Order: sequence, then structure tokens, then C-alpha cells
Amino acid sequence: MIVSTINELRDKLSYIRKQNKTIGLVPTMGFLHEGHLSLIKRASQETDFVVVSDFVNPTQFAPNEDFDSYPRDIKRDYKLAMESGADIIFYPSVEEMYPKGSSTFVEVTGDITKVLCGQTRPTHFRGVTTVVNMLFNIVNPDKAFFGQKDAQQAAVLTKMINDTHQDIELIVCPIIREKDGLAKSSRNTYLNKDEREQAVILNKSLSLAKEKFDNGEKNINTLKQTVVDSINTMPLAKIDYVEIYNYPSLTKIEKINGKFIIAVAVYFGKTRLIDNIILE
Ligand code: AMP
Repeated sequence: MIVSTINELRDKLSYIRKQNKTIGLVPTMGFLHEGHLSLIKRASQETDFVVVSDFVNPTQFAPNEDFDSYPRDIKRDYKLAMESGADIIFYPSVEEMYPKGSSTFVEVTGDITKVLCGQTRPTHFRGVTTVVNMLFNIVNPDKAFFGQKDAQQAAVLTKMINDTHQDIELIVCPIIREKDGLAKSSRNTYLNKDEREQAVILNKSLSLAKEKFDNGEKNINTLKQTVVDSINTMPLAKIDYVEIYNYPSLTKIEKINGKFIIAVAVYFGKTRLIDNIILE
């Protein structure tokens, strides 16, 4: 079932809650692929009733970014989501989520939103936390499901939940990849043939660093340089960042001690792709 208004969604969910069913939420911007579907499947295993939101959120795009051209296909999304175990697709308009005059943002401050993607996209996470907080308020889920593909987003949202004392369990699901290793993304559709071929270097460079780490390399700069050199073998790749941080705190790392993330963002033409690996 597709629901477009907050009131209708709340009505349906209050009925579900009266039956003592648990509710899972999978926030997406639509144009669903197997990455999204893996979250929906996981949600349907772990909760009784699954809400998938399908909303291209304007506040997480900067004016020069791809909000208008972001791919959309609600009919296809609906079919795929329902087949994967969704019970309701929440498909609101921009006006429904941000009615005229709305001027409130939820923002996680500090370095966690300033490093990595926060550096080149300074207003991005404020948009993400604002919309996800709205979805949490509307749906009031027991569990919410996010992908490790957007590892910084998961870290920021975990902090938002903790800092604002929300009683929601955030589940981070593994990255789903194409056969050649490229992380699935709605933005992969922007790539031309040559860019698509060369984009495999993101995952390859991270795998190379993992291999070195597993073989005993513990020097942060060496691991970082391995990734940079590997990405730079592709002529169409333009590095936005290659960084290593403690995870999930995203604090600076001097010596490896526990979990850490190697995160990359790379342009192929106008398309910016991200990928990461979490090691321990
Ligand atoms: P998006 O529609 O890009 O905002 O993504 C919605 C959710 O799907 C986010 O939690 C993403 O991290 C997750 N996601 C996107 N791509 C993948 C992928 N390849 N594997 C796993 N999860 C993903």
C-alpha cells in the first residue's frame, strides 16, 4: 500500500501498534536497488510491520547538487519494496514534509558531521538528521535500518538517537555490491560506460588496503597511500577524499586501536561515488 500523507500513515500505524506488533522503518530516497531491498528484507525478518519511506529529501542536497535530476520511479519502487517484505510505502510530497513556513532543523554538531562527506557537503547531514528525525517522529519505529554504504550517515544518526534519548534501535546492514564489486547506488545510473568500468577501483583499492592490513601493515599513512595510488591508476577518477578514522566516533586516528574506517569519495565526471570498509 502507498500512503502519501502523515495523517493516513499515523492512522494505519496506530492500528498496528494496538495489535502489539513491532514496527521497522527503512528510510530511502527511492529508485530502489538490491542495497535498499536488503534493508527491507532484514527489516521484515526483525520486525512485524515494515514501513519504507521513499522521499528525495531536498534539504540534504546543496543548490548545485542533483536534487532535480535524482532518478525517481515510484511504480517500480512500490513493486520491488512489496516483493521484499514492505507493508507500507510512505511517499510524501515535499510540501507534506516541509509545509510552507517550516523552519526547524535537527543538527548533530561537531567534527562527526564536518569530516568526510561533511567537508564537501557542509549542509548535507543537517538535512539527513532533520528528515530522519521527522520520520522517527511520524513512524515511531522500534528499529530503523540503514546501510553501511553510508557509514558516516549511520554514525551521525546513531549519535542523534543517543543525544536526543530516542528509544529506537539503529541496525546497520552490510554493503551490497555489483558482481564486479562496485557498491550498488542509485547514482551509478549516471555513469557512462568508461566511467562505470573504472569505478570498480573504489572497492578494489579498499580490498588492497584490507589485504595489506591483514598482512600486518598498521601504518595509517601507508594504508591511505595504498588506496590513493590504486585509485589514481584510473584516468577518469578524481579523488574527493581518502580518509581513515576511528569508527563510529569518526575521531582522528593516530594508532590503530579497535574499529576504524577507510572511506573514499571519488568523482567520475560529475558523478561522485562513495565507498568504505570497516576494519578492526
Ligand atoms: P538512499 O536511497 O541512497 O538514501 O539509501 C537509503 C538507504 O539504503 C541508506 O541507509 C543507504 O545506506 C542504504 N544503501 C544504499 N546503497 C546501499 C548498498 N549498496 N548496500 C547496502 N545499503 C545501501
